[in-house]
Amino acid sequence: MTNRARQIKTNRAHIPKKQLVETILNITDLSKTYQSGGQPLTVLHNINFGIEAGSTAAIVGPSGSGKTTLLGLCAGLDRSSSGAVELNGIRLDSLTEDERAQVRNQYVGFIFQNFQLLPTLTALENVMVPLELRGEKNIKPRALELLDKVGLSARGHHYPAQLSGGEQQRVSLARAFSNQPKILFADEPTGNLDAETSEKVVKLLFDLNREAGTTLILVTHDLELASKTQRIIRIKGGHLVSDEKTNA
Ligand code: ADP
Repeated sequence: MTNRARQIKTNRAHIPKKQLVETILNITDLSKTYQSGGQPLTVLHNINFGIEAGSTAAIVGPSGSGKTTLLGLCAGLDRSSSGAVELNGIRLDSLTEDERAQVRNQYVGFIFQNFQLLPTLTALENVMVPLELRGEKNIKPRALELLDKVGLSARGHHYPAQLSGGEQQRVSLARAFSNQPKILFADEPTGNLDAETSEKVVKLLFDLNREAGTTLILVTHDLELASKTQRIIRIKGGHLVSDEKTNA
């Protein structure tokens, strides 16, 4: 090996792995104040963290501690009062509501505890909505494919009220997967489900992380579910009180 080649090899060996890690979500000094009965109510205080692309994380904490508010700000559903949210390199706080919606359509999936399916549309139509909004062609076969992925291709013609909670959550997963999101936020995704159904939904979420590299951020009360993620961020009274890696 020439001296030059040896030098290059040595230099490469010294590149820290960290430089190769992409941060998909970066939260800096994030605060949120609501107006509650005419009075300001600050529910998040100077939160800071970054999330690696392709990783999994859980946000945990007592009821009322600000978890849902934090998730909504991270996903661009709402706007911070101060501080910055950077998603996939885009500063959300400097965008208009329409621009935030575009970023969500492009990069974000979101799942709610109460599923939030449109009650007057069938399961299949619910999955078709975001595809239609993005102006995609051939949306019916694509929506069927997504329903098949969550094991519900035979239930496409059912309305949400005709489906069990677990089935509704699987339809909402199919809808959330439809834009092949880079990052999926799930607010208490198993909160309304029995243990067996929860397991199916959790498996689908983690499969998506493993197979497509989708970053997964969950808000959950369930510490067993939280421990399946690589990182647990604890919120109390609107403050970040700990941020620890798990063994997962
Ligand atoms: P968690 O998800 O941890 O239960 P939330 O983020 O839902 O907490 O709520 C945090 C606090 O913010 C609570 O005191 C709640 O009442 C308040 N809050 C949430 N949304 C609003 C709102 N739109 N207007 C006023 N207060 C709100």
